[in-house]
Amino acid sequence: MAYRVQRLYQRWQTLPIRVRGTAIVAIPITCLFMALSAFAWLKASLVEDETWVQHTQTVRLETKQLLNALIDAETGVRGYGLTQREEFLAPYKQAQTIIPPSLNRLEKLVQDNAQQTQQIQKIRTLVDDNLEIFQQKLTLQRELKRIRGQTDTLVPVASLYEWLEEGKLTMDQARQEIDRFAQTEEELLVQRIQHQDFYRQITWIVLCISVVFGTIAALFAVHLFYQLERELANREINLRETNQRLEIVCDQLQRFTANASHELRAPLAAIMSNAQVGLMDLDELDDSPMKLRKRIEKIISLTKQMSTLVGDLLFLARHEGLLAPDSMESVNLTELLGSMSTEWLSQTKIHSLELTSQLPDTAVVVQGDANLLQQAIANLLSNACRYTTAGGTIELRLIRQLEQALIQVKDTGIGIPSHALPHVFERFYRADPKRSRTSGGFGLGLAIAQQIVQVHGGQISVTSTLDQGSTFQITLPLLTQYGSVKG
Ligand code: ADP
Repeated sequence: MAYRVQRLYQRWQTLPIRVRGTAIVAIPITCLFMALSAFAWLKASLVEDETWVQHTQTVRLETKQLLNALIDAETGVRGYGLTQREEFLAPYKQAQTIIPPSLNRLEKLVQDNAQQTQQIQKIRTLVDDNLEIFQQKLTLQRELKRIRGQTDTLVPVASLYEWLEEGKLTMDQARQEIDRFAQTEEELLVQRIQHQDFYRQITWIVLCISVVFGTIAALFAVHLFYQLERELANREINLRETNQRLEIVCDQLQRFTANASHELRAPLAAIMSNAQVGLMDLDELDDSPMKLRKRIEKIISLTKQMSTLVGDLLFLARHEGLLAPDSMESVNLTELLGSMSTEWLSQTKIHSLELTSQLPDTAVVVQGDANLLQQAIANLLSNACRYTTAGGTIELRLIRQLEQALIQVKDTGIGIPSHALPHVFERFYRADPKRSRTSGGFGLGLAIAQQIVQVHGGQISVTSTLDQGSTFQITLPLLTQYGSVKG
């Protein structure tokens, strides 16, 4: 689970900022819309609920009015039958005006419910029957009154009882049917209220979920915005750093180009002047072949210097970056340094210097290009020879450390002033330009050595005391599987 979340997070990080920003804004907006929809739904359901309650109240009132009118009509007719007084017929007459419109209104109110429409039709028939019976009873009473011409109670008690009972069954049926209709309406109301309650609960649940999700989403959005802001700030810092690095590189390149042209211009000018003077001498035919020979030798020597310089520059340009894998091999430094110390013995002797070497008995193996490593160490040895006065000593040491090989070239030479120490590995840098020029250096030897060491994943450093000597150190990562092999 945690792994999946992490992968999801990583995928999220890879999305473009525009997509992430849109998603961040979309989350709370979606939640807001959900909450608004839930509110709208809730409101609509409340309005519908209210409409239904009002409808039921109207139906209830109408039903009650109908029933009351019918009962009043019956009571009025009965009263007239018992008293023969016309004023008792007032409720009956009023009911005749109330009942038909009331039935019409009820019919209209329940027209969308088939069952209730049927019930109303049944009620209408029963009510009509009752009104008919009332009419018949009244007609009968009036007829009797007309025949007998009397104003007091004319009907015998038994007949009166019969007259009163007449139509009772139809009246009861009408009442029952009206009651049943009212009950159906009540049940419908209960059903609707339950239905609405259920919807209301659902709406509240949706609303609560939206609020919770909305809050979480908003917090998440804020968090993501912070993250985006941090990311943008980091990118800005990175850009600024890259810019600074580029400026430094540009600066170095500019200096390098200026130095290289300067270095090339000097021997070129010398070649030119030597050739021109030689030509003039030839024209005047007063120069001895010896002199001419010297001039040509000078030109050759200057051209050699230039060739060395161009070679060094080419080397620096070619070996920028990492070593090609096919040029990598296991290099036994013990062997390499052993043969080098033998080779350099004669060279140091020429300068009246003593060369000693301290090498381990075991093989110290690193991964790399043997020729390049040899050149880096040769550059250090050459410097030691050039910057050490006759009688001095040079020490070549190889020490096998835990995870790296340490090569030291130590001399008892002129040393390097402390202000020059941080710059000695820069291209064309010379601590003492006059002295270096006489000893033939272009200030590229240490830069080349550093570049070689760096492409091998190692480091080069120097410690020096003026007039006492310098120690150059190279560290290279060991190739572990060969580390313990005997040399
Ligand atoms: P160069 O060809 O001028 O010797 P390098 O790059 O080899 O150029 O050295 C850069 C500078 O560092 C030299 O000009 C010199 O001043 C100083 N330097 C290098 N090695 C030594 C050393 N062993 N003793 C004293 N100074 C040194």
